Amino acid sequence: MQKKSKNAVLLLLVLLVVQLALLLYLCSKQFEGQSTSLIDFTIVIDAGHGGIDGGVVAPDGTKESDLNLVYAKALGNIAQDAGFNVLYTRTSSGGLYGLPTKGFKMRDMIARKKVVDASNANLVISIHMNKFADSRQHGPQVFYQRGSDLSFELASSVQKVLNSFANTNRTTQSGDYYICREVACPSIIVECGFFSNATDVANLLDEQYQQQMCENIFAGVMLYLYSCGGGMSNS
Ligand SMILES: [Zn+2]
Repeated sequence: MQKKSKNAVLLLLVLLVVQLALLLYLCSKQFEGQSTSLIDFTIVIDAGHGGIDGGVVAPDGTKESDLNLVYAKALGNIAQDAGFNVLYTRTSSGGLYGLPTKGFKMRDMIARKKVVDASNANLVISIHMNKFADSRQHGPQVFYQRGSDLSFELASSVQKVLNSFANTNRTTQSGDYYICREVACPSIIVECGFFSNATDVANLLDEQYQQQMCENIFAGVMLYLYSCGGGMSNS
């Protein structure tokens, strides 16, 4: 290589290094702020139950409300790491109803809706655990509000990925659920598995499975956003 072209290559390399350093500096400046969210898209993660409402109970005494919170936080961390803005309806074991007096369940649900409304959320994912009389029932299942097309798309995408992960063939189920009906954005309830099935319980309590399950829920959300936009442009 001639000396002149060698110098040109060197100059280009120096310029590249300077540009990279500048980019890294700008990125680090961005992360000094309070929010590390890179994407203008808010996901609210709702850990079902809490406080005096423990939800269903596993044979070993594990309360659904506690395990829901473990999954909610793991899912939130994954979404946050991917650059999404993440909010939770609850981050402690307590419920959102205030005093545990008559009507606490409805107060709890209303408080959850308020979190979603105030956040101008783009998506809501509510985390639950299932239980059924027939102990053969197993695997994750996704529920959505009857009549909501986008929620159906979201539920179908997440169910598809979860079926592949858990080697199941479950279908989504529609119904009338407060947390889905009362919020403006697409929303789903993910029942991660059955407390009435021994294999599910063992899996659900396993840390590695918890992380994998949440990664797959998130992958389902990504599939939904990729396939139908998911309202990315209408915030
Ligand atoms: Zn539940």
